[in-house]
Parts: sequence; structure tokens; C-alpha cells
Amino acid sequence: ATPMAVAVATGRGARAGLFIREASALERMDRLGTIVFDKTGTLTEGRPSLVATHALPGWDEAGLVALIAAAEASSEHPLARAFAGKANGRPVADFRAIRGRGVSAAVDGRKVLVGSRALLMEQGVDVAALDPIADAWEAEAKTVLCAAVDGRAAGAAALADRLKPHAREVVATLRSQGADVVLLTGDNPATARAVASELGLPADRVIAGVLPDAKAATIESIRNDPKQKGVAMVGDGLNDAPALAAADVGIALGTGADLAKAAADVVVASGDLRAVPQALKLGRETLKAIR
Ligand code: ADP
Ligand code: MG
Repeated sequence: ATPMAVAVATGRGARAGLFIREASALERMDRLGTIVFDKTGTLTEGRPSLVATHALPGWDEAGLVALIAAAEASSEHPLARAFAGKANGRPVADFRAIRGRGVSAAVDGRKVLVGSRALLMEQGVDVAALDPIADAWEAEAKTVLCAAVDGRAAGAAALADRLKPHAREVVATLRSQGADVVLLTGDNPATARAVASELGLPADRVIAGVLPDAKAATIESIRNDPKQKGVAMVGDGLNDAPALAAADVGIALGTGADLAKAAADVVVASGDLRAVPQALKLGRETLKAIR
């Protein structure tokens, strides 16, 4: 694009709240076939709240919540914030974050593991007693955290995160313009499919259970499909920097990590999802202006 067309687009973007860090991205925006969205904090508000608990025999719900809260006290994950202030002063040692899976810690001297069902199973915990409730919550689009104490399942908690305003409408707009919209998440497939259904997105457009480090590889593999036009990645910044960098166009929503902003071509500080179709429109107009 000519410097003039780019300057015009950059100025118009800025007025719409889009900070275009990489002008060459404007041209790539015209060639996008797939738009991949991160779930938590991107399509959802990223502020999950605790909506239900289920304690297995030997545990009461308040004790279970305090235990989970204590294990999560040092976690920086958005899921952990749902338990803020609920630990009732229990002593915690040996905190460890298990990226994309959960946390472990010693609470009151007992080994506590909190995270996805997959994490507990990996660590040899028998979670069969939690399966029915976890299945039901997942079908309701809730994120399920399971807890184990000293290697035995203790209970589970359901967290709900609201869709951002305009999420459904933005997905519909992009699809009506011919884009293949994909939901990419570390959350489990059943929850991800339920969220997709709330968004009006078919279940086959969901890629779930992807560990943080594998998100960039997922973007690469879509890019390497010869039938594929360009790929945009839209993320909130948390853990998303490598995926944003791997995409043809990386769009960071929100005031998230500086690292993600540095990896993104476009930064939308407001987090407003409508900025995504606006950015694509700007790209099309920039190219039209120079043709
Ligand atoms: P997303 O792709 O939605 O941003 P992550 O990759 O960060 O999600 O996490 C994937 C899954 O790992 C979560 O849905 C949850 O089951 C589990 N998990 C991650 N961090 C934590 C944590 N601090 N406590 C409990 N579970 C966690
Ligand atoms: Mg995220």
C-alpha cells in the first residue's frame, strides 16, 4: 500500500480504537480465510464466577471451596480469581502452576490438586465419581475444576464466564462475509462446544483441549493447509503471544500482557469484539484505495 493509504487507514483505525502496530498487516487482512478466536477473555469476559460446587462423601461444600481457594491463592489464572478471599486463612506451601491444566499445593500439610479432569486423570486420580456432575456442567458451557486431596477425588466446582457483548453478532458478521470462524481453547471439548453453540458456531469449528504452548502450532498447521488463505488470531494476551505471532494477522483485545501486544499487529485496548470486523473492513478499504 502507498504510505498515504496506510496513513489514512492508520488514522481511521485509531479513531475507531484500533491501534495498528504493523502497517503491512492491512494488506494481509484482505487475504484472510480463517479467523481463530481464543475463548476465555476474548469471546468471554474472562471473569469466571463460581456458580456451583459438588462435594464427594467425606467433604462439605464450604470446606471444599476453602481448600480449592487456598490452592489457587497464588495462581494468576483468571479461573483462580473466582476463589479470591475464600481460603479462610489456610496455610499453603509448595504452590505450583501446571500451565493449561491447573495447580497443585500443600494445604494444611495435605497435597491438593485442582484443575481439569484431564489433569487429575493424568496424575492417577480416579475421577469416576465426578463424571456425572462434570458432564452436566460442561454441557451448560461451564468450566469444571476438579479437586483431589492426597491423590483422592474430593469434589468439583463449576465456573461460568459470560460471553462478551456483541460476541454472537460479530461471529455471524464474519461468517456472512465468508470467513471460517474457529474457536480455540485450552478448556475441555464439551464446554467449548456448548460455548460455540451459544455463539452460533457449529461444533466442528471448535479446537479444544489445546495446551498453551500448542496454540501457536495449531495456527501454523492451519496456515500450512494449501487450501487455506490467511489466518488471523484474536486473543486477549494471556498466554496468547506465540499464537498471535504465528498468525498472518494477530489481533490483541484488551489491555492484557505487554508481551502479547508486542506480538500483535493490531491492538484493541477496549476489548470490543466489533473491532475485528472493523479491522478487516479497514484492510479492504486500504487496498481498494491503492488499486
Ligand atoms: P483458555 O484457553 O480458555 O485460556 P487455559 O489454557 O489457560 O484456558 O486453561 C485450560 C484449562 O486448564 C482450564 O479450562 C482449566 O480446566 C485448567 N486450568 C488452567 N489453569 C487453572 C487453574 N489455575 N486452576 C484450575 N484449573 C486450571
Ligand atoms: Mg485465554
